[in-house]
Amino acid sequence: MNHFTYRQGELFAENIPVADLAARHGTPLYIYSAATLRRHFEAFDSAFDGLPHLTCYSVKANSNLCVLGLLAECGAGMDIVSGGELHRALSAGVDPQKIVYSGVGKRPAEIEQALATGILMFNVESMGELDRISAIASRMGKTAHIALRINPDVDPKTHPYISTGMKKNKFGLDMDNSLRAYERAMDLPGIEPVGIDCHIGSQLTSIEPFLEALDKIVSFGDKLMARGVPLRYLDLGGGLGITYNEEEPPHPAQFGEALSAALENHPMTLILEPGRVIVGNAGILVTEATYTKSTPSKDFVIVDAAMNDLVRPALYDSYHAIGEVKKHGRPEKNVDVVGPICESSDFLARGRELPEIEPGELLAVFSAGAYGFTMSSNYNSRPRAAEILVDGDVAVVARKRETYEDLIALERDCIE
Ligand SMILES: *Cc1c(COP(=O)(O)O)cnc(C)c1O
Repeated sequence: MNHFTYRQGELFAENIPVADLAARHGTPLYIYSAATLRRHFEAFDSAFDGLPHLTCYSVKANSNLCVLGLLAECGAGMDIVSGGELHRALSAGVDPQKIVYSGVGKRPAEIEQALATGILMFNVESMGELDRISAIASRMGKTAHIALRINPDVDPKTHPYISTGMKKNKFGLDMDNSLRAYERAMDLPGIEPVGIDCHIGSQLTSIEPFLEALDKIVSFGDKLMARGVPLRYLDLGGGLGITYNEEEPPHPAQFGEALSAALENHPMTLILEPGRVIVGNAGILVTEATYTKSTPSKDFVIVDAAMNDLVRPALYDSYHAIGEVKKHGRPEKNVDVVGPICESSDFLARGRELPEIEPGELLAVFSAGAYGFTMSSNYNSRPRAAEILVDGDVAVVARKRETYEDLIALERDCIE
């Protein structure tokens, strides 16, 4: 069941009319559904019930504290990619022993912060990083538990900007170098190799690339174990896709079944790092039409949300379904839905059939819960949108709308 539904032509977020939330909190407005978040996490996590496993939600998909707190309550661990995300995860009450730290460019201060916290493991992406973690851990008198992120050279068949496990990508270590890196990790002070990791990309709509990667990682891991590397964790990353338009990604249950079959009786604990599949369809972006405009070649609906609020269409030419918050039953028209920003890439949809919209009316941009707010910016000095978390009949402000004063607060010193 979807928790963003129309009742008598009016869009609801769980039991609350979206128009009421927009009237109270203004637009552009992100709205998340708590019931959807719980359902998605549980559907994903329970798909692996047959295996020892840990589901580490990928914080960068949606890092709002209320969202992290809700998922932590469901038992989620977290996959982080920065010191800032570590701070968020800890602030939301996540158990440090359920945190894995990925990313190609961990800085010394971030490594220190993670070691002081006592996270579950670092997913190490280069020899340089391995040496640096060893040096810092030794100095601190700590032991860093690490996995090496392997680049399995698998084509995830997704958008090139979000494919990460092919030879040409900057991520991870190739198989040959990894063997040397594990040997080195065994000798380095302050380092204990405990896992093996990969993450091949995002918005994958079939299981095959995952199975291909898993196969390579498992046989490599077995080889390492035979050589005495004490591996306990097999981290397969995130990347399961969602339906934005007509994609038909596997259901998490199918995904779980396929992986569980492939890993039957394997001694390692499986770690998964889902992001988009948990939050993507748990959020919408509500925007108000400011103007409509017809040119000889096109019709535009100019709305108050822009690429600074939701950059995915501009960045990946990605599709988001758009619908009226109140259906008026007017005839459809082919339009571009665009924001007010001074860039031609500032669109939310192009060439879209939408019922005729009048200025002042509200539109909902669907599937905006992942890589929406987290990729937003202040470009054109636009305060960032507010975020609302709805749970049944209750709505809480998960993040206040930024003010003009917020925009300049950190620059005040230069004029005072
Ligand atoms: C972004 C990322 C994820 C999450 O990817 P989704 O496509 O949102 O599931 C998981 N692991 C790593 C290392 C990532 O960078």
